[in-house]
Amino acid sequence: MKLLQGKVAVITGASRGIGRAIALRFAAEGANIAFSDLNYDDNCIALEKELAALGVKGKGYASDASSFEASEKFIDEVVKDFGTVDILVNNAGITRDQLLMRMSETDWDLVIKVNLKSAFNLTKAVQKIMLKTRSGSIINMSSVVGVSGNAGQSNYSASKAGLIGFTKSIAQELGSRNIRCNAIAPGFIETDMTAKLPDDIRTEWIKGIPLRRGGKPEDVANTCVFLASDLSSYVSGQVINVCGGMLM
Ligand code: NAD
Repeated sequence: MKLLQGKVAVITGASRGIGRAIALRFAAEGANIAFSDLNYDDNCIALEKELAALGVKGKGYASDASSFEASEKFIDEVVKDFGTVDILVNNAGITRDQLLMRMSETDWDLVIKVNLKSAFNLTKAVQKIMLKTRSGSIINMSSVVGVSGNAGQSNYSASKAGLIGFTKSIAQELGSRNIRCNAIAPGFIETDMTAKLPDDIRTEWIKGIPLRRGGKPEDVANTCVFLASDLSSYVSGQVINVCGGMLM
């Protein structure tokens, strides 16, 4: 029996990068996948095809996770199409890096809205369903810089630290209903998000990683499978660092 056989997973921001890897890994474990991104583009169509080839139901939705109304509508559509939601991965995230001195109010507000408020939007929408079924696993994509902080990323670090507080609070609120909530704190993972970093900063980051390499989206996806499945049935309110030992 596969680890997520017949489960319905919702993953935000999944047309590429870590979210995409999670969708494929979950599907390989038998889960049906409802994924969102800002636009329904060629990446979404390609992912739908890959999911179908894995023998599961997979559907992409254009939905802005930072919008409360759009998130409610997205989950309503998922329930119509898939019947329920068992797993939620709040993965959508952006960076707008800048030293505080140069950071605009717009970039502060946008990062908090996309990275932190999105988790509120989606979790609130799925909790009604999970409370009825008395089961569920919610996974929030934080970051090592949400724990350690990082110069030039005060908006991003604050949003990711906020997700950790949110995770622990939801784990306490919903635990008695058999709904678990955990966070993953990835370190340096090779995706489009980190591809835009200058080479010297990249080299410097890698030097500080005991495993001496960046992570792959699949490294994060494997930890997600653990947290989504019954393998972690007694794990809630935790932050798991997936960072090659960068943060201890
Ligand atoms: P990515 O930029 O490759 O992918 C993020 C996806 O989210 C994109 O497809 C983007 O279109 C989508 N997205 C952005 N805003 C959205 C919105 N409002 N609604 C819906 N979708 C939206 O990034 P990634 O590296 O795959 O990162 C995924 C998550 O992991 C993010 O939350 C990121 O902060 C976190 N993370 C990444 C790293 C890393 O090193 N790559 C490290 C720590 C944490």
